[in-house]
Amino acid sequence: MKYKRILLKLSGEALMGGQKYGIDPAQLEQYAQEIRKVKDEGLEVAIVIGGGNIFRGVQSSTIGIDRVQGDYMGMLATVINAMALQSALEAHGMFTRLMSGIKMEQVCEPFIRRRAIRHLEKGRIVIFGAGIGNPYFTTDSTASLRAIEIEADVVLKGTRVDGVYSADPEKDPNATRYAQISFQEVYEKGLNVMDMTAFTLCQENNLPIIVFDMNKPGNLINVVKGEEVGTLIN
Ligand code: UDP
Repeated sequence: MKYKRILLKLSGEALMGGQKYGIDPAQLEQYAQEIRKVKDEGLEVAIVIGGGNIFRGVQSSTIGIDRVQGDYMGMLATVINAMALQSALEAHGMFTRLMSGIKMEQVCEPFIRRRAIRHLEKGRIVIFGAGIGNPYFTTDSTASLRAIEIEADVVLKGTRVDGVYSADPEKDPNATRYAQISFQEVYEKGLNVMDMTAFTLCQENNLPIIVFDMNKPGNLINVVKGEEVGTLIN
């Protein structure tokens, strides 16, 4: 295995699967199966899951709710997804802990860095819910920050596209996928990998990012084996 400790970022939006809203059980099941494969290889796995399938802070103004309130709503949405994912992973016999950026003692543990690392060392999958716990951030920035804090080897951004393209492949038939690209080139070419806060955190801390298609069975395990899947940014 190329990596020992990974931070997997799963988008909330992808959790909708074929639905228009909420959580598609088939999608959850697929995530659990893919994560099981890497766990079986002895990897230490931490996960950040988004909340876009339920609520995003930027939507809040359209319904007369201010941005900060909306962001907290978004953070709570990530906890709902994290709890669903936790159950799916446990149904597959994996041991998990959910740690939240906002204290909610009856539901999960608060995020404590040393404790998170200890869970990982004991083979538990740690899911980070409620983002960083602050408005005006995203779950991508949460993924970068937590990955740095727990000293993960890599951020794996599991999406519905199979990597970073030179242009939008849905609009430009000449768009090509990069197998590898530097942080600097991503800036220069104005490519969209993560929001800038998340991206800069990785660059400044020499933390590589791999963008890959999480929906293709076997992709996650192949990424951690070091096979050429998706796009490596380093
Ligand atoms: N959010 C936040 N602070 C954080 C993480 C998330 O305010 O540290 C809010 C923000 O409103 C965001 C929402 O939670 O829109 C859901 O997360 P995100 O949009 O990143 O989810 P994804 O796009 O991955 O589904």
